[in-house]
Amino acid sequence: MNVLVINCGSSSLKFQLINSDSEAVLAKGLCERIGIDGRLTYQPAGGEKAVTDKAMPTHTEAIQFVIDALTDAQTGVVKSLDEINAVGHRVVHGGENFSKSVVVTEEVKKAIEECNDLAPLHNPANLIGIAACESLMPGTPQVVVFDTAFHQTMPEKAYMYGLPYEYYDKYKVRRYGFHGTSHSFVSKRVAEFLGKPYDATKTIVCHLGNGSSICAVMNGKSVDTSMGLTPLEGLVMGTRSGDIDPAIMEFIAKKENLDIAGIMNVLNKKSGVEGLSGVSSDFRDLDAAAKEGNARAALALEVFAYKVAKYVGSYAAAMNGVDNIVFTAGIGENDGAMRVKICSYLEFLGIKIDEEANGKRGEEIVISTPDSKVTVLVIPTNEELAIARETVALL
Ligand code: ADP
Repeated sequence: MNVLVINCGSSSLKFQLINSDSEAVLAKGLCERIGIDGRLTYQPAGGEKAVTDKAMPTHTEAIQFVIDALTDAQTGVVKSLDEINAVGHRVVHGGENFSKSVVVTEEVKKAIEECNDLAPLHNPANLIGIAACESLMPGTPQVVVFDTAFHQTMPEKAYMYGLPYEYYDKYKVRRYGFHGTSHSFVSKRVAEFLGKPYDATKTIVCHLGNGSSICAVMNGKSVDTSMGLTPLEGLVMGTRSGDIDPAIMEFIAKKENLDIAGIMNVLNKKSGVEGLSGVSSDFRDLDAAAKEGNARAALALEVFAYKVAKYVGSYAAAMNGVDNIVFTAGIGENDGAMRVKICSYLEFLGIKIDEEANGKRGEEIVISTPDSKVTVLVIPTNEELAIARETVALL
């Protein structure tokens, strides 16, 4: 079965066509600048990457170009639309309406729309992607996979804020968590990789990328995670502040004469390691700058590592112990020096890192020594494959 996996943003759309039997990626690509001008990047497996400018006033044209590229006589990977058997959509916010993936129906679309308030930038775009696929591929089953679903197992004590209860009652203000597809995929894979039962292990997943979050997975269930009502809470990220004293918002608003939208823009786009360093949100740039003696770049890296370590420590407490700590996503998978920096705070847990194993790249690997009390691993995440698997499982 071939599954088209779609991750739709407000002006972009990432796609992969995955054969679910071999789990091979047949082709992948990206539509950018939808509604502005439009650019399609398309790469068939083993083939050349092609970038073409194409007018994409809406997501419908973008998806039409994706279908055209996938079925193209020369560079396509399938003969016709009939060979695309299902579509799996990543949806950011399922609120409390969804604790697992579901097949798209009219009711499901309504329930996603009800969550628009909780993710105003993402959910409407996800719905547009679904509608575009419905119009261009009528009859092809569609599945939605939610970033929040995996965390619906969190206990009340983990998801309730210390706010007036009526805000939860009236507006569903609570912690939801994100990156659920990645946390679920990686924590499951850790158990498989180590040959341990998933339902009897305590794993902390550190998904460290542009957006970063940590998840405590106890006996196969998310029991706590660092992102909250929105993906702004938790770790210090590329450009997001993560946890701050909420009173800072009023303080800065007055000093800088900003309204709420201005403050949110600062917290989402001008903070994090970029704001701290004044250099970049990319850890490769920060590493290079720190090596050249840039003190603020070095500080940003240290703040990031310290915060990750504090969350890991608190999740070891939340689960009353931890068997495995796993690093994944762009930074988690590639930045060995950052892993060492984080783990240096965690020696009290009996963690010892094997420097040689930690130096390897691009593979699933245990990076702790055999006598380390906690097993530390690197497991590459693969959200698209996870979405394809969920889609097939549901259909
Ligand atoms: P996204 O959240 O956009 O999916 P990724 O998981 O792809 O992000 O992570 C992107 C980040 O990973 C980059 O911003 C960069 O900081 C980091 N990264 C990628 N490769 C390396 C590397 N070799 N060394 C350090 N950091 C890296």
